[in-house]
Formats: sequence, structure tokens, C-alpha cells
Amino acid sequence: MSRFWSEVVHGLTPYVPGEQPKIPGLVKLNTNECPYGPSLRVLQAIRDAAGEDLRLYPDPEARALRDAVAAHHGLESAQVFVGNGSDEVLAHVFQALFRHEAPLLFPDISYSFYPVYARLYGIATRPLPLDEDFRIRVDDYLAAGPNGGIVFPNPNAPTGIALDLAEIERLLLGNPDSVVVIDEAYVDFGAHTAAPLIDRYPNLLVVRTLSKARALAGLRVGYALGYPDLIEALVRVKDSFNSYPLDRLAIAGGVAAMQDDTWFAHTRGLIIASRDKLTAGLQALGFEVLPSAANFVFARHPLHDGDVLSAALREARILVRHFSQPPRIASFLRITVGTDAQCDALLQALSAIVPSEA
Ligand code: PMP
Repeated sequence: MSRFWSEVVHGLTPYVPGEQPKIPGLVKLNTNECPYGPSLRVLQAIRDAAGEDLRLYPDPEARALRDAVAAHHGLESAQVFVGNGSDEVLAHVFQALFRHEAPLLFPDISYSFYPVYARLYGIATRPLPLDEDFRIRVDDYLAAGPNGGIVFPNPNAPTGIALDLAEIERLLLGNPDSVVVIDEAYVDFGAHTAAPLIDRYPNLLVVRTLSKARALAGLRVGYALGYPDLIEALVRVKDSFNSYPLDRLAIAGGVAAMQDDTWFAHTRGLIIASRDKLTAGLQALGFEVLPSAANFVFARHPLHDGDVLSAALREARILVRHFSQPPRIASFLRITVGTDAQCDALLQALSAIVPSEA
């Protein structure tokens, strides 16, 4: 450890993303990417933007993309913030909107990026346990006393379980003094978006990504929707160190993605249908599968540890995600919904690893 490092760096536990393998030909079901390529309209828009104009800086306000996002959600551009993937949007949220006088509340089993950023920005945290069915208990958040903000994914990650909009509304009503951030990275696969609530709740911020249901994880586009006042706080943070939120290619591709509803509906439908088949296949092998509203499933086998299963799958050239912490989820595998062929390959490999119906 360097004596020149700040205390913050010494204390930092880096966020470890899923493996991005260099070996070709692996069945990659570990980072919740879309198994299908993006819309052809997106690819064309990026090609069109890849010309002479790349010598020019991009629009620091990414106006075209904010307009396209606003139009998609029936909102004003002043209610939209954009960034390099929702991870960057969330980083700005942590700096701009979570206050330091009380702890930030989030589920104890949730996106592992939240505690990393809280630590980086000196924000105290209070993780609240999920209930015995791995569901978020809104009453616990309302009873927790003052907070500096609340954040969770809906559907939650890595469980895939969605929270009803009525419950989110109860949380917003009962928590008027701090921001509630709903991270909707996986909302398009079966949960209800809280976006229509933002006109009514000045304390609601909805964070979205084009990485999952729009198949653009490689382009790095995310956005936030909220009251203009919340958006302005995010813009102030952004402007203080990087006034170009997105490059020209990302803006062009992002605009086209927000406008291709046909591709979007088709792809989402394919993934939801494959998820249902994958769930049934896992259950037939004896797995318990949590009810997923996401593009992944969270599943465990009563007789096999998660780490053993994920290592055996890797031997079979199939990548899934295993979390050793917290202990309550160490028996689970998080499996991205792939194409039907990928899901079949996974089920076939698993059937060789787990004994048939014990
Ligand atoms: N939120 C959640 C819950 C996620 O799982 C992810 C993806 N790992 C993200 C946000 C970030 O996605 P991106 O930065 O690609 O938009």
C-alpha cells in the first residue's frame, strides 16, 4: 500500500464486475448482457456518425439524446440526465443527491456497486435485510428513521424479484425528505416502471440503461429521469469535472435505440419467453428458481454448492455468476437469459453435473 494514497483509497473495496473473457466460444451468461445484437437502425446511425464530424467535440448537453429519451417517456428534456452507462449516472447520483447527515438505505442483497460508491464518497450506509422470500420490505425503510437517501434496483439484482409500483409509491409518500432512487436496469423484462410517477414525486429519481433490453452494453449509455431540480443537481456535478457526458457515436446510437420500438418489443419478447423455458428447465433438474422479472434468473440446487456448480460449468465452457457474499446467497447461481440454444447448452451441462431428481 502506498503512503501517498488517500484514506479513501486504502478503505476501498473495488467493485468486481463479472468476467469479460478473452477466450472465444464461451457461452457467456454471467453479466446480463443481451444475447442478440442491437437494432440495425442503431448500427446504421453509428456508421453515419462515424465520419468527418468526429473531429468536433460532442454536444456537452447531449440534447438529441435527452430529447429522444424524453419523447420516449412522454417527459420534458429538463427531466432527463444522460451519462456513460447507468454506473456513471449512479456515481453522479451518489455525489449530488445522497446527503451525509444520515445513512443511505439499500437492501443487504443488492447491486454490489452501491457500497463501493458510498465508501468512495464518504456516505454512511445501512443495508436493510430482505425478507425470508428475498423481497424488499418497504415497512423497514419507513421505520428506519432519518436517511440520507434510498437506492435499490427494481427488479432487484441479483434476485430478479420485482417490487410493485404501489409499494414504491408508499415508500415515496412516507419518505418525503430524501431522494428515493429506483435503479431500473432490468425493468423492461416484466416489472412496472416508476417513470410515470416522477411528475408527482419530487423525491423520485429513476435510473435506466441501454445496456440490457437495448443490447448496447458496449456503447455505454444510461440516463436518469426526475424532477428538473434533481436533474440540475446531477448536471452541476457532471459539469464540475467532465462536461461531455457522451461521445458522438454513443449519442447517435442512443437516439436510434430509443426510437426503435419494433426491435425493442421483439427482443424483449424473445428474452421473456426464453426465461420462462430456462426456469422450467432448471426446476426440472431440481433447482429452486426465484420469480424473475429480469433478464436473468437466480437459482440454487438443494444438493450442490453455487461455487462448485459455477466451477463445473466453467469447465464446460459456460460462464454464470456466483456471489460468495453474503452467505445467504452463496448457494445461488445468477444465470443470464441467453438465446434458447445457449440456455439449452446450460441445461444440458447442468444435467451432467447434478444427479437427476434426487
Ligand atoms: N444497475 C444494476 C442493478 C446493474 O446490474 C448494472 C449492470 N451491472 C448497472 C446498474 C449498470 O449498468 P450500465 O453501467 O451498463 O448501464
